[in-house]
Amino acid sequence: MVSSALFLANILILGVMAAAFGAAWYSQQRERFLMSWLIANSVMAASLVVFALSPDLPDPIVYIFANGVLLASFGYRWRGIRQFYDRPAPHWLALMPFAAYLVVSAVPMYLEQSAIVYGTVNVLLTAVTFAAIYEILRQPRRSLSQYGLLVAYLILSVSFAVRAGQGIFDAQAITSALPQDAILYAHLIVATIHTSASGAFALSMAFERNAEQLRNAALSDELTGLANRRAFDERLRALIDAAPSGGFAVVLFDIDHFKTVNDRYGHSTGDLALKRCAALCAAHLRAGDTVARIGGEEFAAILPHITPFEAHALAERIRSAVAGTRMSSPLSPFSITISAGIYHSSEGPGDLDSVMRAADSCLYRAKRNGRNRVEPFAGLIAGRSAAAV
Ligand code: GH3
Ligand code: MG
Ligand code: MG
Repeated sequence: MVSSALFLANILILGVMAAAFGAAWYSQQRERFLMSWLIANSVMAASLVVFALSPDLPDPIVYIFANGVLLASFGYRWRGIRQFYDRPAPHWLALMPFAAYLVVSAVPMYLEQSAIVYGTVNVLLTAVTFAAIYEILRQPRRSLSQYGLLVAYLILSVSFAVRAGQGIFDAQAITSALPQDAILYAHLIVATIHTSASGAFALSMAFERNAEQLRNAALSDELTGLANRRAFDERLRALIDAAPSGGFAVVLFDIDHFKTVNDRYGHSTGDLALKRCAALCAAHLRAGDTVARIGGEEFAAILPHITPFEAHALAERIRSAVAGTRMSSPLSPFSITISAGIYHSSEGPGDLDSVMRAADSCLYRAKRNGRNRVEPFAGLIAGRSAAAV
């Protein structure tokens, strides 16, 4: 009676969770793990129906259908976790615990040695639960929801291990139907907690990742993969507010005569040149620097904790790397040049607009003075001429 109510509770939660996974998958079909969990929860509910009815069912049905299908459903959940982490997840992997059970238990099933069958299925359930735990633990970084799923699995693995021990150490008590004892009741209560917690946390994992992807997309440039204007503004504003004692610089880069590149070699070759230029900028930055594509063929770098001369040298290295790079095109190889303007915080404090205006006026000077050159802020020029005098 108690067990029937607990089985019913589990079956209902599994059904509701399967529907929730279906709804989540409908709107996020890229997350294939949701489908694996939908399948797993539906199949698990079916196997629990058979368990609930097991005292009235013939042994082979309980042995093969209930136990085997329960193992397959945990196998599919394991597969789902691997899919979530982009690990190989073939169907045969999900069905391996089921196959192992059939092979190991075939003879004991035939001889109706219930305790061996019962022990085997619970040892395999413990193993597949540990496999799921291992997938989560091997990740270098886990979100709160992933910790939640981990705890849900740890609790269940203890419960399965106790059930496995029951089969091994108390074989006399095991009948072909489920032993209806206090351990079963405790196990079903744990299963209820596990089913609701694992389902809720797995769904939350999908939405967490979705939110992160949307945030990344909103802050990055699709063509080059660099930060976009919005991310650049956010970081620069934060840096201006923090006013680091070591000073900081902002460098604006603009590709020279890029319209001619497009006109001569085509827009898609132009796009490739933009990507190449972005990669060259990124390759020369230090850890903690930011480079963004802030316009069509305009890039900007934020360089915290840097002196004016270091900023100038870094911008010069990027300019020279771009000028020295051969770009390929279907017509003929070509090269591009960039001009750069630098603002340094030692010029005086400013807000985002004035900082950008200062860098832009240096860039304008670089264009006017012939392009393919770096023009530092006025203070640097003054410093340089003072040194020359
Ligand atoms: P300047 O040396 O004065 O900067 O000359 P420019 O031709 O680079 O300057 P202008 O601003 O007149 O032209 C910029 C060109 O950049 C115009 C546009 O065709 C090109 N462009 C902007 N965005 C993209 C893009 O995403 N892909 C490609 N292929 N071209 C782009
Ligand atoms: Mg431009
Ligand atoms: Mg340009």
